[in-house]
Amino acid sequence: MNNQDAGIWTDVLRRMGYTVYPASMDSAEETFCAMVRGSRKLLAVSGKRAGDFAGERADGMLLCSPNRENADALMRLFPYTAPARCPKDSLSMGLGDRLGIATPGHASSVAAYDVFPVFAQQSVRELNLTGRTFKDIVAAAAFGVFEAGYKKGYGADGDHLKTIGEIDAALDAGCAMITLDCSNHIHADIAHLEDAEVERLYGNLPEDLRTYYESRYSQREHPVVGKIERNVLRRIVLTFHEAVEYAKTCHAHIMQRGGGVDFELSIDETSAWTLPCEHYVIANELEQVGVRPTSVAPHFCGEFEKGIDYRGDLAELTRQLIAHQQLAEHFGYKLSLHSGSDKFSVFPVFGSITKRRAHLKTAGTSWLEAMRVVAQKDPALYRRVHAYALEAFDKAREYYHVTTELDRIPDLSDLADGELPLLFQMDDARQLIHITYGLILNEKNEKGDYVFRDVLYALWYENEESYIHALRDHIGRHLQSVFAEV
Ligand SMILES: [Zn+2]
Repeated sequence: MNNQDAGIWTDVLRRMGYTVYPASMDSAEETFCAMVRGSRKLLAVSGKRAGDFAGERADGMLLCSPNRENADALMRLFPYTAPARCPKDSLSMGLGDRLGIATPGHASSVAAYDVFPVFAQQSVRELNLTGRTFKDIVAAAAFGVFEAGYKKGYGADGDHLKTIGEIDAALDAGCAMITLDCSNHIHADIAHLEDAEVERLYGNLPEDLRTYYESRYSQREHPVVGKIERNVLRRIVLTFHEAVEYAKTCHAHIMQRGGGVDFELSIDETSAWTLPCEHYVIANELEQVGVRPTSVAPHFCGEFEKGIDYRGDLAELTRQLIAHQQLAEHFGYKLSLHSGSDKFSVFPVFGSITKRRAHLKTAGTSWLEAMRVVAQKDPALYRRVHAYALEAFDKAREYYHVTTELDRIPDLSDLADGELPLLFQMDDARQLIHITYGLILNEKNEKGDYVFRDVLYALWYENEESYIHALRDHIGRHLQSVFAEV
């Protein structure tokens, strides 16, 4: 679109009571589009392809809700607004957006770095807790990308998918990355059994299965991991054999549907750390049948709790990262680090060991930044949400592994309004708000109206610049740290 057209457009929309997001103005196939801000956010469209969109006509223009159907039309018209695959040779980063409003801030936070952002990334658990679908999250990212004028490409990750049905829902929505969570098929309890019991269980496996694994792995040297002891191999087969078969099945299903998406294998939600020899056998078995993931997420030592820094032995983690990175290089994929929100002490090591050819996932930290904005802009509202979160905490804890101690959180009656944002520097207060998001957003009164959801969204809309700045600072700190030289 040339400057003159853009000026005319902006004037027309201003007379109608809308402000144009300047970075969004774009045209293709003789069709002009821009995101505009009035009492709510809309897409303004005029020109040849306006018929692809649904909206209200006004002054020769179509004003469209940023809904899923209009997102489809937008993605067809401007392909950069559709999810794409992660590049193989650079850092990619998942930036979960539970609220559907973070993409402009996320786009701003990644602009200065060589990183491919996965703006849409949600697990089924998160979708259930927020009442959204994969189509919703892709639509929110598409409109966010368009509003920000971010044209370098972005990803969409159906995160921690456990069933074929979930994979289908993510693929149908246009997700270009599937993260398969095999945890339901991993027998993690094997790690806690005595050798004798392991031997007994192993003996119960079909003979051809045992022969298969023994012929492939016993009494020989393997790349990176060397020899695998007999009893270790038995444990690996018992723990991971079913997960490997399940990964093959899911991958075959994805290929049957046309493939062309990134396939991440997540084995991080287990009770024990992933040993390099376990990682090796899993990857080797997949490679044997031509399944090459684009990334693998092992379970690393220490605690990767939600929304706070790493707790654990950084020297041991470093050793594990080096071993798993060697395997990732051997098999030709990226290591993926989950629960990466706020792991500032880990990022420099992770960045340098992987040479930033890796994947990093964050999610809840962007919700926390949204709540930090609430604490800054409407202390009274924040106090109400906080009080509710304290009540709801035990229920939320069922979904998340955290070590939060509520009595370490200051009593809010002791804090002045101006001190409330400081709560977001305290681990326990962060986790309190972090894990209660679903309950906060869904709480309804006797009349069936949302208690917090609508007022919160109204506040974020009113203060969207503040949220963009908060994300730019906070996600920017993550990236600065990953790109730090150690
Ligand atoms: Zn994970």
